Amino acid sequence: MTHKNLLMDSRCVHAGVGDDVHGAVVPPIYQTSTFKFKDAQHGADLFAGKQKGYIYTRLGNPTVAALEEALASLEGGFLGLGCASGMAAIHTALATFLDTGDHVISSESVYGPVTSLLGGFFSRFGIQTSFVDSSDLSAVRDAVRPNTRMIHIETPGNPTLVVSDLAAIAEIAKENGAKMMVDNTFLSPILQRPLELGADIVVHSLTKFLNGHADVVGGIIIPKTEEDYHRLRQALNLAGGTIDPFNAFLVHRGIKTLALRMARHCENAQEVAEYLEKHDKVAWVRYPGLPSHPHYELSKRQTSGHGGVISFELKGGLEAGRTLMGSVHLAQLAVSLGGVETLIQHPASMTHAGMSRDLRERAGIADGLVRLSIGIEAPTDIIEDLEGGLALVVAA
Ligand SMILES: *Cc1c(COP(=O)(O)O)cnc(C)c1O
Repeated sequence: MTHKNLLMDSRCVHAGVGDDVHGAVVPPIYQTSTFKFKDAQHGADLFAGKQKGYIYTRLGNPTVAALEEALASLEGGFLGLGCASGMAAIHTALATFLDTGDHVISSESVYGPVTSLLGGFFSRFGIQTSFVDSSDLSAVRDAVRPNTRMIHIETPGNPTLVVSDLAAIAEIAKENGAKMMVDNTFLSPILQRPLELGADIVVHSLTKFLNGHADVVGGIIIPKTEEDYHRLRQALNLAGGTIDPFNAFLVHRGIKTLALRMARHCENAQEVAEYLEKHDKVAWVRYPGLPSHPHYELSKRQTSGHGGVISFELKGGLEAGRTLMGSVHLAQLAVSLGGVETLIQHPASMTHAGMSRDLRERAGIADGLVRLSIGIEAPTDIIEDLEGGLALVVAA
């Protein structure tokens, strides 16, 4: 059956079943590096592209293909390209479409390593990037140059959770002949579908919500058009950052429950955000589902849910952050996000401890900033855990 006319919840379960010959309900794991040709002519035809089939796992594998088909269906793209990590996906997509002398506009609130990839790595090849507050459309428009080739947007942004208007930025990209790429990791296609809003390419870290179980590192690129797909496939085959069959299998398994999990992540995060906003040891809470969020209306219009990630600032700065980290039990002290378990992170004493206080503040990372990735546990247990920790915090 075709899954094209199924609703999203059903597509999560049925999309990308592939072509199994034995009738397996779940696409099997083709744990093989290479595939036998029937004879010399078959091998020649596969290489010449005259027949469809598999040659070598870096170039394609049925287990990976099932995942690529499933995610393309969920995002509404031509076909996906499974990558070894989210960073491999972002790197491959940028390297496919950029040449020396090109200019990129990127959200300033992006996943940290993307700042280094664009600002450091790609600048060595004569590719320049302007990092702008992409929630401010005039800042995006003002950053456009005659050689702007790509606009890379992450929304909600990392870790500030600012929301950018995808349809409006897609207009700016089109008017200026630039490709628009969106990192949709924070919301997944269940809550936000950038290709429908005019983007050309979606990328994901599969490591987060799509796999959802904190046991895989992976990524995917999903272009809208067949032409972009072929360019990306050629680049990925050469760069070699492909996902392996076992990880592809695990992510595909995770996607079956994606709609259920996202609904629960959203419900839980909303409840925790509202609880934190009322707490007297909390200076402010940033969650797009709170009316106090500056882009609450945009988030409601552009998404069908505000996701599972919350940032908040503790009164009491660095010490308050350390105290909270040391006194929660259910919430795991770990980076990453999007798994079934609640994770808590204190950038000033963990991920960004190596940065000077000055630089941190300029990046919007206050000493008391805490990031939560809300899991699917019972919300009362998550709140009770935070309540116990907050009770010990000395609010300055
Ligand atoms: C984690 C993450 C990435 C990078 O993904 P990896 O799988 O760790 O390489 C990229 N973008 C966002 C928004 C992320 O959260």
